[in-house]
Amino acid sequence: MWIVPEKEIAALMTREAAFDAVEKVFAAMASGEAYNFPVVREAIGHVDALYGFKGGFDRSGLTLGLKAGGYWPHNLETKGIINHQSTVFLFDPDTGRVHAMVGGNLLTALRTAAASSVSIKHLARPDAKVIGMIGAGHQATFQLRTALEHRDFEKIIGWNLHPEMLPNLEKVADEAGLPFEAVELPGMQEADVIISITSSFDWTLGADHVAPGTHLACMGTDTKGKQEVEPALLARATVFTDEVAQSISIGEAQHAVAEGLIAEGDVHQLGAVINGTHPGRTSDDEITLFDGTGVGLQDLACAAAVVEMAIEQGIAIEVDV
Ligand code: NAD
Repeated sequence: MWIVPEKEIAALMTREAAFDAVEKVFAAMASGEAYNFPVVREAIGHVDALYGFKGGFDRSGLTLGLKAGGYWPHNLETKGIINHQSTVFLFDPDTGRVHAMVGGNLLTALRTAAASSVSIKHLARPDAKVIGMIGAGHQATFQLRTALEHRDFEKIIGWNLHPEMLPNLEKVADEAGLPFEAVELPGMQEADVIISITSSFDWTLGADHVAPGTHLACMGTDTKGKQEVEPALLARATVFTDEVAQSISIGEAQHAVAEGLIAEGDVHQLGAVINGTHPGRTSDDEITLFDGTGVGLQDLACAAAVVEMAIEQGIAIEVDV
């Protein structure tokens, strides 16, 4: 078995490699070549932790395995380590033997950023110039850096419930040499692309805050009860997702479906657009919305790519189990 420690991932994994891996696996999911197993997520009744597994199998990439981990809310204050902790395990689909163990913390941020960027590549207007960010936490900076690589953006605008965090976005804008402006929510009408990545349980972005022709990537809602945008916005938009079952149960679409504003059949797989079996955006006025719920196959695809690079570069550690 190969081990790729968390500390090695930053030097190995690139945003481009994560993007390619996620784009391919979304396509494989839509063609039926890859599927995700039911998610297990449990409050374990110890230090308020949430722990679980996200797994799947991709027949086209021959990737089998799971990501184990979750959220330990007191890690930072009590242990000085980040609250989200995860590890990916890959198995040989021909024999069932464990193939690799890979640190999953940075990979999670890269694969999540890759997902919204895959949606931007396939659904945003080609002439998009202004990107709006809702959220300014850990994931938001990864999201923004990757998104900037997929359109010729000229300006970044941002809103966050906690405005003291907005300098995190401004720093990425400075790195990219782009102007940054903090706006109120109605100011989001200036954006051609909007990414939301918050841990909100009530919507903040309203349907009236979004201009015709905008592409939204809603990335924060990955649990029952979470919510970032007004359900009426999903009724106005053409809705896409990574995995329909997750979108309507734990994703942003859970609320619009529960309120009867849209039905399961109104939610389309982004992979179908990649494969050319769904037309995607059909006009410059259409609002497109990607409900990125986060699937295990994204983690497995990125982990498989990083293991290959680590073996090639002599960084992976080989052990007998
Ligand atoms: P973080 O703690 O670093 O940042 C949280 C962000 O949410 C900040 O911008 C904060 O101001 C904002 N926020 C907090 N409470 C809020 C509220 N009540 N209303 C509105 N905004 C609020 O967290 P992070 O690591 O950046 O993660 C952000 C979210 O992304 C989390 O909900 C996480 O579960 C989710 N996530 C999703 C995926 C996926 O694949 N879809 C992957 C990783 C993380």
